[in-house]
Amino acid sequence: MAWDFETEPELQEKLDWAAALVREEVEPLDMLWPGLEFTPPSDELRTIIDPLKAEVRRQKLWATHLGPELGGEGYGQLKLSLLNEILGRSSWAPIIFGCQAPDTGNAEIIAHYGTPEQKERYLRPLLDGELFSCYSMTEPHGGSDPTLFKTRAERDGDEWVINGWKYFSSNAPTAAFLIVMAVTNPEISAYQGMSMFLVPSDTPGVNIVRNVGLGGEPLGEGSHALIHYENVRVPAEGLLGGEGQAFAIAQTRLGGGRIHHAMRTIGLAGKALDMMCERALSRETKDGILADKQFVQGFIADSYAQLTQFRMFVLYTAWTIDKHNDYRKVRKDIAAVKVLMPGVLHDIAWRAIQIHGALGVSNEMPFHQMLLGASVMGLADGPTEVHKMTVARQVLRDYKPTDDLWPTGHLPKRLAAAKAKFADHLELEVGNL
Ligand SMILES: Cc1cc2nc3c(=O)[nH]c(=O)nc-3n(C[C@H](O)[C@H](O)[C@H](O)COP(=O)(O)OP(=O)(O)OC[C@H]3O[C@@H](n4cnc5c(N)ncnc54)[C@H](O)[C@@H]3O)c2cc1C
Repeated sequence: MAWDFETEPELQEKLDWAAALVREEVEPLDMLWPGLEFTPPSDELRTIIDPLKAEVRRQKLWATHLGPELGGEGYGQLKLSLLNEILGRSSWAPIIFGCQAPDTGNAEIIAHYGTPEQKERYLRPLLDGELFSCYSMTEPHGGSDPTLFKTRAERDGDEWVINGWKYFSSNAPTAAFLIVMAVTNPEISAYQGMSMFLVPSDTPGVNIVRNVGLGGEPLGEGSHALIHYENVRVPAEGLLGGEGQAFAIAQTRLGGGRIHHAMRTIGLAGKALDMMCERALSRETKDGILADKQFVQGFIADSYAQLTQFRMFVLYTAWTIDKHNDYRKVRKDIAAVKVLMPGVLHDIAWRAIQIHGALGVSNEMPFHQMLLGASVMGLADGPTEVHKMTVARQVLRDYKPTDDLWPTGHLPKRLAAAKAKFADHLELEVGNL
C-alpha cells in the first residue's frame, strides 16, 4: 500500500525550521525591502541576506529541487512542494532558499540543454544566487500563441542577429542575461522553426524601451520590460539547445514554472485563511464574535475545503512529476492545477477582505496584492483559457466516440444488455413466480 500522506520526521524537522526562519527572519525583509528581491543587493543588504542563505545551505535546503551536481539536494518536486508552501508566504523567501521564479525555470533549461561552457558562465552564478535572469518570450502583439511570434534571429557567419520586440520580460531591468525565443526558420512550422538564445543584458541593441509595472505601481516603474532587440549580435555558442528546439525547451521550462507557482500559491492562500480565522475569532458584533455567524463559518469552511483540495492536487501532481521525471508526461495535471490556481487565491483573498471589512480593502492589509496576484496567476505562463483547452484535449485522448445512435450510458440500452447477460437467471425468476 504505497499511498501515504505523512511527511517523514527528518523532513518535517527541516520544514519546521524553514517555517520559523521565514516567519522570524525573512518576512521582515518583505516589510523593509519590498520589490527589491530581484535587484542585486547593496553591500548593506548582503550583510543580512548572505548569512540567511548560508544558514539555508547548512540546513541543506538550498535549491533543493536541483540535483547535487548542480548544487542542490535533489529532493524532487514533492518535497519542494512542501517547502514551497512555506516559502509562498513571503516574497523574499524563495530568494533566500535559492528557488525563485523565473530563475528556477531558467536554471532548469540551462541545466538540461546547456553546453558545459554555458553552464559554467550562466548556470553556476545563477544557482549561487549571484545574478538574476530573464525569460523573454511574450511579444506585444500576442503572448498566448507563440506561433504568432515575429522576433527573428538570422545567421550571419559565426553569429546570430536578433531583431524584434518582447513584452512583459520579467526582471529584465536587473537581469544579467536574457533567454530569448526567436524565429530562426520562418519557412517551416513554428514548432520546429524557433530557437532559444542566451543573451547577456549588456549586449548592444538590447533596448529596454520601458519598464511595465503591475496594478498601482507608478507608470514607468516596474520589473516587466518592453524590449526592442535591435541587431543584437549573439555568437553561435549563444544558441541554447539545438536550432529549432525552442518549443521543446519552453515546455520543459514552463511546466516547472507553473507547478512551482502553484506550490507557492498554497502558502499565500493559506496566509489569507490564517488572517481570516484570526479576525473571525477576534471581531465582536453586538451578539457575538464573527466566527459565530453562519455566513462567516461558510467563508471559512469553503476556504479550507478549497485550499485542501487544491493542495492535494498540487502534491499529487508533484509526486507524479517525480515518478515520471518528465514534465511533459504530466501536462494534463500541471495544466489543470494552473487552471485552478487563480480561483483558489482569488476566492480566499476575497473572503478574507470581506471578513476584515474596510480594513480588508485598505492598503494596511495585503489582500489587494493577493487579488492582483490571482489575476497574474491566470495569465503568467499562459492564460487559464488556453490551459483549459490543454486539459480538455488531454482528457479526451482517453475516450473514443460511439458509432451507435444511443450513448453507451443510455439506460434502456444498458437495461437491455443487463437482461441479455442474465437471461438465464431472469427466466428462472419468472418461472418461480
Ligand atoms: C506578472 C506577469 C509576468 C510575466 N512574465 C513573463 C516573462 O517573464 N516572460 C515572458 O515571456 N512573458 C511573461 N508574461 C507574459 C505572459 O506569458 C502572457 O501574459 C500570457 O502568455 C498571455 O499573453 P498576452 O498577455 O499577450 O494575452 P493575449 O494573448 O492577448 O490573451 C488575452 C486573453 O485572450 C484569451 N485568449 C487568448 N488566446 C486564446 C485562445 N487560444 N483560446 C481562448 N482564449 C484565448 C485569454 O482569455 C487571454 O487571457 C508575464 C505576464 C504577467 C502578467
